[in-house]
Amino acid sequence: MKRNISLVKGTHDIHGAEMEKFEFIIEKFYSICRNFNFKSIQTPILEQQDLFSRTVGEQTDIVSKEMYSFLDKGEAYICLRPEATSSLARFAASNYQSGLLKLITHGPMFRRERPQKGRYRQFHQINIESIGEKSPYVDFELILIAKLLFDDLGIKENKHRLLINSLGSKEDQIKYAYELKKYLTEFKIQLSEISQSRLDKNPLRILDSKDPKDSEILVNAPKISEHLSEESKNYFNQVKKLLNDNKIKFFEDPKLVRGLDYYSHTAFEFQTNEDKRQNAILAGGRYDNLISMISSRDIPGVGWAAGIERLMDLISLKDEKSESDKKILFAVQDESYLNNNRILKQIYSLRYNHEVRVSKNIKKLFSYADKNNFSFILLIGEEEFKNKKIILKDLKNKNQKSFEISKFELKNEIR
Ligand code: ATP
Ligand code: MG
Repeated sequence: MKRNISLVKGTHDIHGAEMEKFEFIIEKFYSICRNFNFKSIQTPILEQQDLFSRTVGEQTDIVSKEMYSFLDKGEAYICLRPEATSSLARFAASNYQSGLLKLITHGPMFRRERPQKGRYRQFHQINIESIGEKSPYVDFELILIAKLLFDDLGIKENKHRLLINSLGSKEDQIKYAYELKKYLTEFKIQLSEISQSRLDKNPLRILDSKDPKDSEILVNAPKISEHLSEESKNYFNQVKKLLNDNKIKFFEDPKLVRGLDYYSHTAFEFQTNEDKRQNAILAGGRYDNLISMISSRDIPGVGWAAGIERLMDLISLKDEKSESDKKILFAVQDESYLNNNRILKQIYSLRYNHEVRVSKNIKKLFSYADKNNFSFILLIGEEEFKNKKIILKDLKNKNQKSFEISKFELKNEIR
């Protein structure tokens, strides 16, 4: 016996009903974004490792522990992308001209994390980025699109919440990092090992820690909202006003810093209310310094990413879709009945959703139609073939009619 080849740890196949959800999410996402004039883009899965060391940051878990990177035949260190924003920033650094570059994409991302429910090593994201302008409206627009997506996916108001925060400008962050470090140094020996190591290099990262010891110490830590310049506060107030004016409910969370180094000003996250460890569904923010980290250009931007698998867990697809599909099973008892069949030709040219099956056993054909949610069966059995007839059965209403093949017009019978 040959041993079956198993999946690589932390990866998964998506098929059947799950794949329907996956496609439903992508379709909704693209259709909403197109109405806001976003254009789709696909960037490579392979990138220079340097791209993410510079953008996401050496101190982050993603870069320090989770990246799949390797020396490519002795030539260069390359990696499987752990996220998409940096790739789109790389694209914008060379291709941005003026105004807003509005980009959407989706695809697999790779992080060598400990696999759990909702946490994979290869997972999928939808991503949206608006690059070129620093304006509260642009930040608001991206949050609005996220909200519309949740609505269109049928994720109810009571199943999720929007958290927002402002990380201020780079100058605000430098001042705040100083205050935070001063506070945390008093508790240095009680901090987790990783947080201790971050204390000197990147104290803000500690706010993102999931270690319970760290969380306890952080309760009384100074808050970034207390260290924002007037300008940064004003900016954040305008974003909040737009959200309020449009009845988008949010909670301010001063501890929300996001796991990546490149954010400034508005940061946000949509979480599920369900008490799960993997409660982050969609996350993003403004990144005015990102592009200058990887190029000589200084272009502001804002964006978000959502985990498709995590969205899939929150939605259920109803049967409405398949009913409106009018799916036809074209069933024959013998292969030869398919030859030069004028009704099949109608099916092709009118683009009906259909499947062709051949079986001597008519019962089997009907049970196949039943199991696979077909709305109609078009049947040519031996008897019908002899008499040049075809049977059309409406499987939902259970009625059945027989027609002469030469006169049958599908578009008159199934609309
Ligand atoms: P988490 O806190 O769950 O680790 P994150 O902050 O690392 O999430 P981001 O880098 O902001 O996540 O990525 C955006 C979204 O991608 C997340 O909100 C989540 O829905 C999804 N995501 C991130 N990592 C994974 C993973 N390993 N498996 C599945 N989905 C993921
Ligand atoms: Mg993570």
